[in-house]
Amino acid sequence: MPLILNFVFFRILRQRFILWHAAAVLAMLTQTLVSSGLINRFVRLSVTELCLLSTLSWAFMVIATLRFFIDLIEPETLTARQRFAVELLCPWFLFWSGYYFFADGVLLPSVAPLYYMSFLPIIATLLATIVLSALRGSRLVWFQIVGWTPLMLLGIARNLSILGLTDAPLGMMVEQHFAIAFEVAVTTLGVAERIMTIRLQRDHALAEARFQANLALHDPLTGLFNRRAIEEKFDTLLRTGFHTMAALDIDHFKAINDTHGHAAGDEVLRAVGRALAGDKDILTVRLGGEEFLLLLRGEDALERAERLRQAIPSRVAKEHTGLRKLVTASMGVYRLDMTCGHVPSFTEVYTACDELLYAAKAAGRDCVRSNVSIAPLPTTRLELVG
Ligand code: GH3
Ligand code: MG
Ligand code: MG
Repeated sequence: MPLILNFVFFRILRQRFILWHAAAVLAMLTQTLVSSGLINRFVRLSVTELCLLSTLSWAFMVIATLRFFIDLIEPETLTARQRFAVELLCPWFLFWSGYYFFADGVLLPSVAPLYYMSFLPIIATLLATIVLSALRGSRLVWFQIVGWTPLMLLGIARNLSILGLTDAPLGMMVEQHFAIAFEVAVTTLGVAERIMTIRLQRDHALAEARFQANLALHDPLTGLFNRRAIEEKFDTLLRTGFHTMAALDIDHFKAINDTHGHAAGDEVLRAVGRALAGDKDILTVRLGGEEFLLLLRGEDALERAERLRQAIPSRVAKEHTGLRKLVTASMGVYRLDMTCGHVPSFTEVYTACDELLYAAKAAGRDCVRSNVSIAPLPTTRLELVG
């Protein structure tokens, strides 16, 4: 089950500690199959082969567990030197596993004591790192502490027997099987916990990045797009049919500020922003100050831009009853001719719009100027320029 879970976890988050955990679980499974004798039901192995498999599975179990420990634990709770000390235990144990299996002749009597004693530095180093990371506030280390306690106790008991300090048998195989099963179950919970934490941190970072990106592309006062949002994507917008641009400027806005104060001016800007609010075919931008830009697509884009401009006075009057005059806006609208083959830049189109807007201002304000004719709307004064 932990192997299946590891597979699922790894599909969600490609983290190295999951692979080390899977390797440790596989090694523990092998060790349990060999030491319980169950393996004989599946394959016929000689005593030497069984011995090799047992030694190797112990070696990989210890190494994978150590690597799993340093990859799993929260990075800030262990220093580089402490991690290195744990990493050093891997070649150390590999050497003594080799000694245990291959040593012969006069070395034979020393094999078991030295092999079992080689666990002592491992246990000591792990205990020290566990205590240190627990003191530094690691949550995950508690999964290790609980998970490893039975195996550690077993290791200590075996060492005490080797030293002749207790009568406990060296094997204690049933205890070992249970200790391994317990370790696997608890550390799998640790893996799940770590994955949840990483996932949460990642979601948090993504939300933050989205928030920042959103901020960078929006005007804080009105919540509309800013110039950058449109300028950066202008080519794409043209390709997706936004062929009409309208530049709007509120008429005599300075007088509103002068008469009613800057805060009232800001409110008017917000109300104009709401009056110009776009939909899937209209993008509304606040360029800065009291200037707005519309990008539109569709057959009647010019008429819709004009309707939005005409909606400004009533909308602002409804939201700000204290204003003495109607708030109007002038507009320059430019429809691109996409059949001529030239794909204009944002600046080219905006400059053309700005010239038309200037013409609208010069013509007395509260009107629109366009490079092509706009179907007359009931309440507008329209004149064609150029
Ligand atoms: P015109 O009809 O020719 O456009 O005249 P205007 O008064 O609208 O234009 P002008 O450029 O003379 O004044 C624009 C004013 O907008 C001046 C500036 O203080 C004000 N303004 C710019 N940004 C903001 C803002 O964010 N909030 C407020 N309240 N006022 C702003
Ligand atoms: Mg202006
Ligand atoms: Mg103005």
